[in-house]
Amino acid sequence: MADRDGKIWMDGQMVDWRDAKIHVLTHTLHYGCGAFEGVRAYHTVDGTAIFRLQEHTERLFNSSKILRMKIPFSQEQVNEAQRAVVRENKLDACYLRPLVWIGDKKLGVSPKGNTIHVMVAAWAWGAYLGEEGITKGIRVKTSSYTRHHVNITMTQAKSVSNYTNSILANMEATDDGYDEALLLDAAGFVSEGSGENVFIVKGGVVYTPDLSAGSLNGVTRNTVLHICKDLGIDVVQKRITRDEVYISDEAFFSGTAAEITPIRELDRIEIGSGQRGPITEKIQNAFFDIVNGRNPKYAHWLTKV
Ligand code: PMP
Repeated sequence: MADRDGKIWMDGQMVDWRDAKIHVLTHTLHYGCGAFEGVRAYHTVDGTAIFRLQEHTERLFNSSKILRMKIPFSQEQVNEAQRAVVRENKLDACYLRPLVWIGDKKLGVSPKGNTIHVMVAAWAWGAYLGEEGITKGIRVKTSSYTRHHVNITMTQAKSVSNYTNSILANMEATDDGYDEALLLDAAGFVSEGSGENVFIVKGGVVYTPDLSAGSLNGVTRNTVLHICKDLGIDVVQKRITRDEVYISDEAFFSGTAAEITPIRELDRIEIGSGQRGPITEKIQNAFFDIVNGRNPKYAHWLTKV
């Protein structure tokens, strides 16, 4: 991935893709304190546009605040960097990866006196859990790994170190032949996927774990809440048990990378009819209308590059 043409925005400069490097003594590389975002740009009816750019940038700044890293750029500069990276790389629909990290000025656990850096890269990236997953749904396994407790590494920060837990859960599930993992919180309630929020549908009502389950406050999750309101579907945020998922009518994941991906099976137990459910499909259609610029109500969520 490192050896390709294109540009990466690094600390205010457009740097050749191949030269966008950091030193091996970079603090974040050793201790895992860093924050990042996953953002998508879509090929909308009105040209290339970044979906909910401001919300992603805000979360990046909030994650950094939680992790006590002061970003040496304004939100406007980071927004502009993201637009510029898509333009410079002549990308259309793509994925963007902003990252904030602690530099190589010193090592030792305390980052005090070190420098804070920001980069933004972008590349073409299709359906994260596969095109077929979007239409047919995916097979999921409850992870043997517990999702972070809310008072360990902070769950409202999209922090680098939280993803060791995600990697372990995802590798375990995919090694066992599943597409993705579902993690439970420290009390045993449903939290989220390794990189997605989770929803279930039962009796026409949509349920999702409230954020005290250690799940990330997903931008797509929030988009789903808006969509349900528009469609007149009730949403309840509450504690959910794994067996509530087994006996739900439908289930789906939401995420910037995963978009809206139906879950057709959990732990080899078919959910509902074992295929994408009708409410999931409605929400999916509304989602793709919004991100592709076909719903004027949400035109303000699309920032042209
Ligand atoms: N939970 C986790 C652990 C994630 O990595 C993601 C992806 N950022 C999400 C939820 C979904 O968040 P969003 O919709 O903002 O991408």
